[in-house]
Amino acid sequence: MTLSVRFAALAAAASLAANAAFAEGYPDRTITMVVPFAAGGPTDTVGRLIAEKMSADLGQQIIVENVGGAGGTLGAGQVAEAEADGYTILLHHIGMATSATLYRNLAYQPLEAFEYVGLVTEVPMTIVARADFAPADMASMIAYVKENADTITMANAGIGAASHLCGMLFMQAVEAPIVTVPYKGTGPAMTELLGGQIDIMCDQSTNTAEQIKGGTIKAYAVTSPARLDIFPDLPTVAEAGLPGVEVSIWHGIYAPKGTPVEATERLSAALQVALADPEIAAKFADLGTAPSSAADATPAALKAKLEAEIARWQPVIEAAGVYAD
Ligand code: ASP
Repeated sequence: MTLSVRFAALAAAASLAANAAFAEGYPDRTITMVVPFAAGGPTDTVGRLIAEKMSADLGQQIIVENVGGAGGTLGAGQVAEAEADGYTILLHHIGMATSATLYRNLAYQPLEAFEYVGLVTEVPMTIVARADFAPADMASMIAYVKENADTITMANAGIGAASHLCGMLFMQAVEAPIVTVPYKGTGPAMTELLGGQIDIMCDQSTNTAEQIKGGTIKAYAVTSPARLDIFPDLPTVAEAGLPGVEVSIWHGIYAPKGTPVEATERLSAALQVALADPEIAAKFADLGTAPSSAADATPAALKAKLEAEIARWQPVIEAAGVYAD
């Protein structure tokens, strides 16, 4: 054995031993889950539900930190820069894929900057309005929006957010450029919709379901291919005359690039336990969604999803010509 081969073998053995020691002790302290949107919104809701169940399995608390702004890119950027030690993770949604094209000067590369833990859930969006918005259904909403585009306000969580993407598809479909108002998340946007300061919004059912049930906002359509069990009378966008607005908002958990594989695998195992919990299934069902399968709650499935979704949305965004530079 030459000296360099012996050195490489020793280094490999040392790294294996270090990884084994890491795996045994991990996690031995609190983990921070960054949610890149404001508290009270749909990503935050999913994050807090899942963090609680994962904490129970890991034997260590996962605390949620909301870092809203710039369509989720501020929070994602913070995690890209965080120490890759398994103690900082990110719960993001489809915005991880759309921001790769929407932001031409992003400080991190979505496909390069992270390790993957797994998919969490795929949530339909709902097109909703303040309770006293005049149009009674989607057909009259489309006519009304075309007539009044410059006075109607539509909330979103910034460029790259799911609400921005859905709003963009909606405006393309109705061929009317509505005035958009960005928030740090659709939690605060919902407060303004309830207060009547904003007219319409397209947001995940995880943020709108309770309000629709309570009649405090008006719902016009759901962006899934089939109607939701919780709202059997709410038409799909295709039924309502807007087939191009179909979109579903997948959420995944990431860790900074270089996080030990022992940590991402342990987190993935905890995610699978959390998603199999009947309480999570029941809470998600109430909000119009469902937990991802064990096969999808894996690093490989999330990586494949991100790659496919970047490729899927890039031409749509380029055709719309919308960028945040
Ligand atoms: N629903 C928001 C979005 O538009 C984000 C959030 O507040 O969770 O992406």
